[in-house]
Amino acid sequence: MSVLAHRILEVLQSPYAVENIEVVISASIGVSMFPKDSSDTDELILKAEQAMHRCKEQGGYAVHFFAQDLQVRSIDRWIEEQHLRGAIDREELELVYQPLAELSSGRIVGVEALVRWRHPTRFRLPPSEFIPLAEETGLIVPIGNWVLENACRQAKSWQERGLPPLRMAVNLSPRQFLRADFLTGVARCLEATGFDPHHLSLEITESTMIQDLDVTVSCFETLRDWGIDIAIDDFGSGYTSLNVLRQLPVRRLKIDRSLIGNAATGDEDKAITTAIITMSHGMRLKVVAEGVETNDQIGFLRSIGCDEIQGFLLSYPLPAADLTAFLSARGATAAV
Ligand code: C2E
Ligand code: MG
Ligand code: MG
Repeated sequence: MSVLAHRILEVLQSPYAVENIEVVISASIGVSMFPKDSSDTDELILKAEQAMHRCKEQGGYAVHFFAQDLQVRSIDRWIEEQHLRGAIDREELELVYQPLAELSSGRIVGVEALVRWRHPTRFRLPPSEFIPLAEETGLIVPIGNWVLENACRQAKSWQERGLPPLRMAVNLSPRQFLRADFLTGVARCLEATGFDPHHLSLEITESTMIQDLDVTVSCFETLRDWGIDIAIDDFGSGYTSLNVLRQLPVRRLKIDRSLIGNAATGDEDKAITTAIITMSHGMRLKVVAEGVETNDQIGFLRSIGCDEIQGFLLSYPLPAADLTAFLSARGATAAV
């Protein structure tokens, strides 16, 4: 069986031509066995499907056989999925906000909205604990809509209270912006909240960006035409080619904190960070350094002309009320 499955995989993976364009299909195969795994057809198919999902989780391009622990995992996952599905209705999601400061002036110029889940039994979960499940199940779409709408509403309310205008940054998953109704959803949200798109920034993680370049470019162009700022998040953690970067109407790069962590001390990370900033400025992009935790890092980033910083040194992500207090206490100027 294993030999046959691997043979199918091999055949599927051989490139073939469609109108002179070389096409390669990726495949993941899940296998369940009669009668070991079940003697019921539907159950066999379900188990093969579970094995296939495990295969995909581990990167795909492989053959996976059903194993009993998959079923246990699958039930746990199903329960978690049902919880997450109800999280919005039960008002268990919340946003925290982390400020960004301009290095030249010390002014707070924006905040990033970061989602948390007040899980019924596991306290407050960070996004790494549930965003992957949300992306796999498609729940990222309603969650993303909730985040966008609430972040815009909060930013609008800060403006109405007379705080200086801040850029509100919201993270996007490709599952959101590759949907046909994504732009209509953004337009609807801006209308419902009355938030000026010129103060909205949408962040797309570098490693997930290039799934469908044509759709991505045209979607980002529309957003840019509406005045929305597009930022590439976690830059330096993925493999964006300069050619791709050139095609995208982005205004901002956020350098991944894995680079910033060593930027004040490690020679290689110093060199990479300096090169990213020089390149970005050459392309008229603003640069934000993420994960700034020390004054040495600030000193180095300032010396190479980095535009903005974000990190625990300036502030942890805070609930809206605490961020309001933070802004009022410091005025709009941070001690950086
Ligand atoms: P991100 O967009 O790169 O957000 C920055 C992350 O770095 C946040 O983690 C923040 O708490 C953390 N951070 C900020 N400053 C420092 C620092 O000085 N040191 C260290 N060690 N960490 C710092 P968080 O909130 O756990 O978010 C993780 C990721 O989850 C985000 O990375 C973003 O990719 C994703 N995410 C968060 N909210 C959303 C959302 O609403 N939608 C989607 N699709 N993804 C989200
Ligand atoms: Mg981000
Ligand atoms: Mg980031």
